[in-house]
Amino acid sequence: MEIIKGIGVSPGVVICSAIVLDAEEFRVPRRTVPPAQVSQEVQRLRQAFHDATQEVTNLQISRGDLWDNNIKDIFAVHLHFLRDKTLRKQISDLLKQENYTAEYAASVILRDIAHHFAQTPDTYISERVTDIYDIEKRLLRHLIGSRREDIDNLTEPVVVVAHDLTPTQTASFNKKFVNGIATDAGGRTSHTAIVARSMGIPAVVALSDATAKVAAGDTVIVDGNRGTVIIDPDEATLREYQSYAAAAVEHEHMLDELVHLPAVTTDGINIKLMGNIEFPYEAEITLKKGGEGIGLYRTEFLYLEADHEPTEEEHYQAYADTIKSFGKGSITIRTLDLGADKFTQHKRVNPERNPFLGLRSIRYCLRNLPIFKTQIRAILRASVLGNIKIMFPLITNVMELRQAKWIVAEVKEDLEEQGIEFDDTIPMGIMIETPAAALTADDLADEVDFFSIGTNDLVQYTLAVDRVNETVASLYNPAHPAVLQLLKQIYNAANRAKIDVHICGEMASEIEFIPLLIGLGFTELSLAPPMIPEIKKVIRSVSYEQCKRLARKTLTFDTEKQTINYLRNEIQEILRNEP
Ligand code: PEP
Ligand code: MG
Repeated sequence: MEIIKGIGVSPGVVICSAIVLDAEEFRVPRRTVPPAQVSQEVQRLRQAFHDATQEVTNLQISRGDLWDNNIKDIFAVHLHFLRDKTLRKQISDLLKQENYTAEYAASVILRDIAHHFAQTPDTYISERVTDIYDIEKRLLRHLIGSRREDIDNLTEPVVVVAHDLTPTQTASFNKKFVNGIATDAGGRTSHTAIVARSMGIPAVVALSDATAKVAAGDTVIVDGNRGTVIIDPDEATLREYQSYAAAAVEHEHMLDELVHLPAVTTDGINIKLMGNIEFPYEAEITLKKGGEGIGLYRTEFLYLEADHEPTEEEHYQAYADTIKSFGKGSITIRTLDLGADKFTQHKRVNPERNPFLGLRSIRYCLRNLPIFKTQIRAILRASVLGNIKIMFPLITNVMELRQAKWIVAEVKEDLEEQGIEFDDTIPMGIMIETPAAALTADDLADEVDFFSIGTNDLVQYTLAVDRVNETVASLYNPAHPAVLQLLKQIYNAANRAKIDVHICGEMASEIEFIPLLIGLGFTELSLAPPMIPEIKKVIRSVSYEQCKRLARKTLTFDTEKQTINYLRNEIQEILRNEP
């Protein structure tokens, strides 16, 4: 048995056998298979060599005419190695001797050859090192690709263990079979974590070497509440966790009883709870969990999911489907927030050096007007179907906001000319997720109908801590006094301008922050739908007066540690004395 510690990003406990996904870009971890599985691994290896050879041959046939002699040479070398029976034998011998996975055995032998080549004085040979790495990558792509196919054809429940997962990969998991997630990389507010939470799949990230420690088929426990993963649990631990998991399910059922009760403090202050969604079908889940509307629809998932740019009709259909579940409840559609961790950099012609500070979000849309206008047209057309609001992400200055509004005005004019109906009074708001926006909130408030605070990015940009980087995850803390001061300033600016302000970052789904946020004045929170009942329970257990006192005290602290300790003690006390 081995316990590894990470960050619990999606609550719940699951006990299951593991499937391990590797990534070609990373060193394949040393992993073994049970003796009975060795012949299967040899077969996978054979197939990968066959498919890789076929791939290069096809390339030669279809593109060969366009290549100069240097390129022809490179591919000839690749084919030479891929057809080399001795190389294949060397790899399968190692695999059989040590019971290694095909991936690991191939990687060891090829890296060995590369190392050997690098040390020879003959430049023709030493220059072939990059070819060997290329061949390794090609083979791994086939081997790992076959594992990725496994995940699309699951027939039994599993825990997925991976170095990292993209948000779209996570979103494509079949929840019926993927019952837990454990990754080496990631942070609490990475989009993979957010998607796991929305889907209600227990997840632990930032485990650093889970992929090296877990072998396919191992029994693992993913404890998303405590942020631990237990590999090969002993009998006693297994029993302990089985009853813990049963208690967690019971707790969830108990919380579901709150679904139809109002989110109101003990002294009568109503708090509006809304859902954050990535896909239209989640609107229904939000409704079932007691949400009053959608506070954040992350529409970029429409884009990330498809293999083509979504058409106006596809946008429109997604918005119409979302509205269908909600009827009168308001739906805040955020315009495309592509970039950073939501636009895999390898899709770009020139990957950015620093994508979180790069051409992302509203900046990307303002540089790619056809994409932006297509979406705005679809939102405006859907605006007659329900109560829709438009929200622009990552606004950092007033000019950017004005530009975005001009585009909306232009699209409105086009629709008018074409006689297409839309709601001319559609509310427009912005996300406040940078210190720049927070500090100029008074100016911005004059030009919008509402603010929505994206604490995930606000914390990242205020504290200069990458939200997806596990090595600095301990520095990512919404309780930092700088963040709390900014929240207060944003609230005051919205209040002065008499516009709505709500919070839609993950901070609004963490129980210890709820009394503080209410105490700071926030009465609208938008969060992952499965978390709504738990947050409602906190709200129904506390008074507004108590929250105000707590917020006043919190703002006197000068360290995030002091704040977080205080908030944790307070929430325990509140829940212990719940009515
Ligand atoms: C945020 O930044 O807090 C937010 C809600 O947006 P996203 O998580 O999609 O960046
Ligand atoms: Mg954001």
